[in-house]
Amino acid sequence: MKINMDFVQPTFDKEEPSDAHLQWNRSMCPYCGVGCGLLVGQAGNEIKKVKGDPQHPANLGMICAKGGTLAEMMKAPGRALFPLSRENRGEPLARVTWDAALDRITEKIRSTVREHGPDSFAFYISGQLLSEDYYVINKFAKGFLGTNNVDSNSRLCMASAVVGYTTSLGSDGPPCSYSDIELADCIVITGANMAECHPVLYQRIRQHKQKNPKTRIIVIDPRRTLTCEIADLHLPLLPGGDVALTNGLLRLLIENGRIDRDFIGRHTTGWEETERDILKDSPQILANQAGVSLSALAQAAEWIGASKGFLSFWTMGLNQSSHATAKIQSLINLHLATGRIGVPGSGPFSLTGQPNAMGGRETGGLSTLLPGYRRIADPAARAAMEKLWKVPAGRIAADNGHHAVELFDALEQGKVKVVWVIATNPMVSMPRLDRIRKALAKAELVIVQDAYHPTETSEAAHVVLPAAQWAERQGTVTNSERRVSLLRQVVEPAGEARPDWQIVRDVAARLGYAKDFDFKTSEDVFMEYRETTRGTRVDISGLTYQRLKMGPVQWPFPEEDSPVSKRLYEDRKFAHADGRARFVFNPYRDAAEIVDPKYPLILITGRIRDQWHTMTRTGKIQQLLKSQSEAFLDMHPEDLKEYALRDGELVWVTSRRGSFRIKLKRKEDIRRGTLFAPMHWGSLFGTASVNDSVNDAFDPLSKQPELKYSAVRVTRDLAVC
Ligand code: SF4
Repeated sequence: MKINMDFVQPTFDKEEPSDAHLQWNRSMCPYCGVGCGLLVGQAGNEIKKVKGDPQHPANLGMICAKGGTLAEMMKAPGRALFPLSRENRGEPLARVTWDAALDRITEKIRSTVREHGPDSFAFYISGQLLSEDYYVINKFAKGFLGTNNVDSNSRLCMASAVVGYTTSLGSDGPPCSYSDIELADCIVITGANMAECHPVLYQRIRQHKQKNPKTRIIVIDPRRTLTCEIADLHLPLLPGGDVALTNGLLRLLIENGRIDRDFIGRHTTGWEETERDILKDSPQILANQAGVSLSALAQAAEWIGASKGFLSFWTMGLNQSSHATAKIQSLINLHLATGRIGVPGSGPFSLTGQPNAMGGRETGGLSTLLPGYRRIADPAARAAMEKLWKVPAGRIAADNGHHAVELFDALEQGKVKVVWVIATNPMVSMPRLDRIRKALAKAELVIVQDAYHPTETSEAAHVVLPAAQWAERQGTVTNSERRVSLLRQVVEPAGEARPDWQIVRDVAARLGYAKDFDFKTSEDVFMEYRETTRGTRVDISGLTYQRLKMGPVQWPFPEEDSPVSKRLYEDRKFAHADGRARFVFNPYRDAAEIVDPKYPLILITGRIRDQWHTMTRTGKIQQLLKSQSEAFLDMHPEDLKEYALRDGELVWVTSRRGSFRIKLKRKEDIRRGTLFAPMHWGSLFGTASVNDSVNDAFDPLSKQPELKYSAVRVTRDLAVC
């Protein structure tokens, strides 16, 4: 086997005879935030085989079904190959040249911004993008057009984690490493079905548990998911009961004398008020609010209190909520109260859904952020970026841009007139699809830049731009443990597809900013971006592509010879100005909408193991469709009986916002009164999306919508109320 990997001693690979003729290169998985390193075997410009990279610290050679079928994904139909354009919706999209497409976009942006101001334009982008893409988009919009209307589908995924970390610890950034798994003796997995959504990381936990059976695994989830297979304790809480449950744990830790008062006194503020408020409700009241037994809650508290390494993982089960920030702050309180943060095997660990959601945060890819974890609301941060971007003082607007839900509202209201959607499919993934449909119909110009066409969103476009994907382009990604890896280009882009950053660069140049966007390569972009991080929490100013070719590194990485940064806050200096972390007490609150006799059931949405996002890629791979080929609605057998419904029949699910039709599935492993449906399927698969009906209420701080809690009814006929 020929290995073109610059740094690896090729001792790892068990060569199979069929692999011998392939050229092997190092790559990264483009799906979830675990960020698995891959080896891709190619013959000429064709990728033939993909394996896990045993040298990559994130996955140590493991790989899941999605990553394992990337060679098939490259051959899947439906690639966007050429720029397409049409004057009006309803007309067919016709092939045009790149120049024609980019000229049209440029002219429309120029005239719209001139007539209606910069905020009449918006980007809606994606955690699929590379950091270089994110950086160029942010520089163009925030530094040159003068609008902060750049929001990402990461708003739907982990915006609440950003606010949770920032308010409690003083800065965004997961403080732990995957290697803390092997050092923990108590692991809490809450609001995360890791077995299906972060499968390789789940395998690491499973292996750790097998080798160390005394490690306690506690899973908190209304459903008995596959993740529960390794659980010592499953707490099947009521949907939305998370704050009550974590407050109950803290209350019991106090009662049991398991609080680290020395750590609290030296390194935190807000404990007195938090302890006073936590003690107001009895453990029984908190257990009742959470919907779990007091004995189970007490068992969990006992294990957490007795542990030396306490690691907690969470993802969208906490993040996608109208009081998500409160849930996360309450979870972080447990780590602060026990001093289990910044030490081996411990810490609150947010998992990202997408491969570069972290890079998006670092490069300023939300409507509240600027590169280097700077906040738009901070005048000094804006001034620093104006200096770095060499633009006049005051060029960066002082107000945050529209967050995702608000952005589509602004489109519907005609305030935003041109929207450029990149690498995402809001016509399936956003809540209240009826409103997204109306919003896109109202827009004067919808540009959809994607590796695939058609998608549910590109069908609404005036201009479709073909983007290079995965191994067709080069750049950096940051996974959930702050590890930056270099994704290398190993094949040519399909058709006329181009890297995302190049497309935006070329529009910026047409608008007169050629000198400021004089990037020839992704490495040029990276070298400029890294300078914007100098002196910030996410400092990677010592990092180069050359260094990344020697292996991925965790940030911060301020010097070329920076030591490995496995954990943040090992020095106990938190990122708030006084160096102390904050306890933030939150009382339990009801979800944004109530269950009543008309809408008596709670619908939770989520993901399944073998599909990814809105199935633009994985939905075309037969092997991945084998385990589940159609959308479904899980319902408890007793609920089936109560509503006189049958396993396998088609039913209508109706919320206060709309209805969708779906096949019922009998499921023992779900709480009574609770339903589960995957979010992946959209209209291109001949089915209505669950997001037609889910709640678009959002957390007041993170603006992340409540995709996981909608009051609904289930009926055989739509007319039945
Ligand atoms: S666990 Fe995630 S990153 Fe790893 S191979 Fe699977 S989808 Fe890709």
